[in-house]
Amino acid sequence: MTPGQRAEALVAEFGISSPSELDVEAIAFDGGMEVRYEELDGCEATLVGVGNKAIATIRPSGNHGRERFSVGHELGHWNLHRGKSFRCRVDDLSENLASDTVLEKEADSYAAHLLMPRALFDPAIRSGAKIPSFKHIEEVAQAFEVSMAAAVIRMAEVDSLPVIVASYSAKGIRWRAAAPHVPRRWRLHQMLDDDSFAYDLVHGSKGQRCAGKQSADAWFSNDDAEKYEVFEQCMPGRSGEVLVLLYLTDTDMFEARFNPSSLERSSSVQYTGRMR
Ligand SMILES: [Zn+2]
Repeated sequence: MTPGQRAEALVAEFGISSPSELDVEAIAFDGGMEVRYEELDGCEATLVGVGNKAIATIRPSGNHGRERFSVGHELGHWNLHRGKSFRCRVDDLSENLASDTVLEKEADSYAAHLLMPRALFDPAIRSGAKIPSFKHIEEVAQAFEVSMAAAVIRMAEVDSLPVIVASYSAKGIRWRAAAPHVPRRWRLHQMLDDDSFAYDLVHGSKGQRCAGKQSADAWFSNDDAEKYEVFEQCMPGRSGEVLVLLYLTDTDMFEARFNPSSLERSSSVQYTGRMR
């Protein structure tokens, strides 16, 4: 089983049928991991295990969603990587997926599946309009008590909708995640295009539109992008950043001829530049 499948199997074992029942500390405690909140130096969370008991220490962040993600991450280490101790820089899916090590990514994936199991998360995302609005995704993020970034990345990952999500600052792209069924050949611009709504938002223009149809060449650097349209939504993200949701409304974008030279790296989630 993958780390994500193991987390979802645990959720199923508890018979959890609504997001409000996803009490991550109780699930952890049941598995022998106690959670404490204390200031930590140089990391966000630690895990120390002895025998079949462990203590996870989480640095209080004032953000409940991030703390829950950290608990899920440490529980991932405890259930997947027993016998090791960890000092983690986790606080948010969009941040900690930037880490290089396999074990950190496994713990992140475990946490995302534990907090947003497909069986509960997918119907919640689909319960809105055909094209989910950020307002709807925010409601879902609140119901699951996760950060907005964690929710949009998970939304792409569960692959129910033809979406690409990304975060940009004025200096360029910071991370992106695409639904696996979206053709890999679509390459996002490294810098925001000044035709995009996100460009206006990140550069502080007031009163601009944040949702609407766009020519795909405002977002993609492929030569044929100008032939297609996408639905763009944007909202302020972490400081100085803009969160972008692109809904690929144009089915022709899925059928356009594949050009192997445009193949991107194998991961559907990519991170660029310094993460913090
Ligand atoms: Zn870790």
